[in-house]
Amino acid sequence: MMTKADEARLRREMVAICRQMNASGINQGTSGNLSVRLGADFLITPSSLPYDRMQPADLMRMSFDGTFEGRHRPSSEWRFHRDILREREDIGVVLHCHSIFATTLACHHKPIPAFHYMVGVAGGSTIRCARYATFGTQALSDAALEALRGRRACLLGQHGQIALGTALPGALALAIEVETLARMYVHALTLGEPPVLPEEEMARVLEQMRRMSYGQMPEPEGTNDVARPRGVAKRTRAKGAGATAKRPVRRA
Ligand code: 13P
Ligand code: ZN
Repeated sequence: MMTKADEARLRREMVAICRQMNASGINQGTSGNLSVRLGADFLITPSSLPYDRMQPADLMRMSFDGTFEGRHRPSSEWRFHRDILREREDIGVVLHCHSIFATTLACHHKPIPAFHYMVGVAGGSTIRCARYATFGTQALSDAALEALRGRRACLLGQHGQIALGTALPGALALAIEVETLARMYVHALTLGEPPVLPEEEMARVLEQMRRMSYGQMPEPEGTNDVARPRGVAKRTRAKGAGATAKRPVRRA
């Protein structure tokens, strides 16, 4: 159950993340929008209100049937926010922006291939680019959902990018990472099309990332050299076993 206090906290957090979107440089003018699941509803940024002027009370509360409460109009992209939150139960946050390098690639309808292992942070061996559709339309929402299948980020053809998260800081971090990868890829392309990591290697990368996000220490196969907290004796482990290092005893 979400209480009024939970909602107030989420509204403040959303404003803070919107300001960080500006500060990090991923946001351009009044483009971009952000939504967060709130029980059976979601909160979403209002349309075309500059984030430096936005207050927690300016955020709109919407239901999945498209009805809303608040003093503005919800973001023109409420359809893809609504559809992603409805279809993806694993997701709590949808962030959209027109960051420069991600949008540069999207203008060429160029997905980001596995030219760098960090492409795996979006959940697969590529970051797809959704086909172009007019902003604010159901067609754009359909295209975005398709490009996001099994992924946490995508580019939007001739438009921008979408990054998803379970919580606000993770979605912002992913959007910044997508922009960084896009920037690296655009630079790499100036020397020619870079080589792409093979599928087997990307499968290993994704497995490593999955284990890290479960709070376990990744232990690359074929090594006995395991990172451990200070004070814990060095020991070898069976291949594939989870990290079970105990916290060291605190000395006075
Ligand atoms: P809103 O200001 O309506 O959220 O629209 C910005 C945008 O990026 C449209 O795609
Ligand atoms: Zn947009």
